[in-house]
Amino acid sequence: MVLESLGSSLRNTLRKIANATHIDRKMIDEVCRDIQRALIMADVNIKMVKDLTDRIKERALTEKPKPGHTSIEHVIQIVYQELVEILGETKEIATKKQRIMMVGLYGQGKTTTAGKLALYFKRKGLKSALIAADVHRPAAMDQLAQLGEKIGVPVYLERGAKDAVQVVKNGLKEFSNMEVIIIDTAGRHSLEDDLINEMKEIAEVAKPDEKFLVLDASVGQQAGQQARAFHEAVNITGVIITKLDGTAKGGGALSAVQATKAPVVFIGVGEHMEDLEKFNPPRFISRLLGMGDIETLLEKATEVVDEKEAQKSFESLFYGKFTLKDMAKQMESMRKIGPLSKIFEMLPLGGMRLSKAHLDLTEEKMKRFKVIMDSMTEEELTKPEIIKHSRVERIAKGAGADPSEVRELLAHYKRTKKMVKGITSNRKLRRQMMKEMKDGSFNLDMFTK
Ligand code: GDP
Ligand code: MG
Repeated sequence: MVLESLGSSLRNTLRKIANATHIDRKMIDEVCRDIQRALIMADVNIKMVKDLTDRIKERALTEKPKPGHTSIEHVIQIVYQELVEILGETKEIATKKQRIMMVGLYGQGKTTTAGKLALYFKRKGLKSALIAADVHRPAAMDQLAQLGEKIGVPVYLERGAKDAVQVVKNGLKEFSNMEVIIIDTAGRHSLEDDLINEMKEIAEVAKPDEKFLVLDASVGQQAGQQARAFHEAVNITGVIITKLDGTAKGGGALSAVQATKAPVVFIGVGEHMEDLEKFNPPRFISRLLGMGDIETLLEKATEVVDEKEAQKSFESLFYGKFTLKDMAKQMESMRKIGPLSKIFEMLPLGGMRLSKAHLDLTEEKMKRFKVIMDSMTEEELTKPEIIKHSRVERIAKGAGADPSEVRELLAHYKRTKKMVKGITSNRKLRRQMMKEMKDGSFNLDMFTK
């Protein structure tokens, strides 16, 4: 996993937010300070960091949460969105016939990445091939030939050739029946005129659909200047940042490149041919924050929540009722958005150490409980305490269930009710909820799920 330490500090920050009893300026300031520290440690530019946290502050203190979101979820989402923002847009690389040219300085990972890309497209079912156009160093040809052999992709090379452009021409002819052709070119220690000329000539002959600049992550923030210079020289279409597996400066490289508007398209995360990942900022950030599914979770929660229902359910809780009907509703919502314990982790009550066993039922169990509740009368559903022995027998029969299952359902109901009571009888928490309800920042969906 890339950028380990950045990920763990940001995760701690999010946990702090999730466990807060409420959101205020002091809390937001603290969160922003944490984020600043984490990003600066990961080499992200200071001004960028400052702008980012200014935006988080501004939004967290002025924007109202979307309907169905708690103020805490809202802040988490703002942090997430703004972090995604500093990594730029997602550029999709089409799975189609195309020519790709690799450019970049010495040692950045061009040749290795050319091989990785060939394997990537091969696995997508496209006939892929490599052309070795680094004629300045014989070892570079051998390196590419070896990689090609390893991944089962043909490599065109001409030992002893001096003219890279001619090699490219010949290679293209040789591979006229191939679908994805990747051209590995030579680098220099810096961006010099002869390198620019050679890149331009090769581009003219090959007419590549993509020109990828390969950059070693350890250059950190300087990645920005390099990307800009290469872009001016040869109009790159994307950047691939390599060696993100082994440097603390990855955050610097990734964010600096974004500032140049050249999209990062892939990242290299190891020396093996499989160690290439498509770069997708939302996915990258979710993974960094250890909440791969927060986005979908938040989206789904908005869809499911019905404000009125929630209000009713809340009131019935507050005034001492939590019926089997409420529980049925709770189970229904759970089926739509996933295990309750997972949702609770995201909610303000996450810190209350709710027992998982109390919250989660298996899909199978839920179905059975639903069937059993279907054979209960309205009165039984709203006043479960009247369900005694003979009723248990009748309900079981009606549902084709064993009486023990009915008792299990009732026991589950009692436990859930007790837990819910525990929350609503906590005075501090209740006051907080009432206050949030008044200013509209509180969301009641936890009680309908
Ligand atoms: P080129 O001069 O730009 O063609 O660079 P090379 O492809 O020869 O790579 C230089 C060195 O970086 C080699 O030792 C590669 O194995 C290594 N390398 C390339 N990409 C990665 C990566 O994503 N992670 C790691 N750890 N090493 C890499
Ligand atoms: Mg090379």
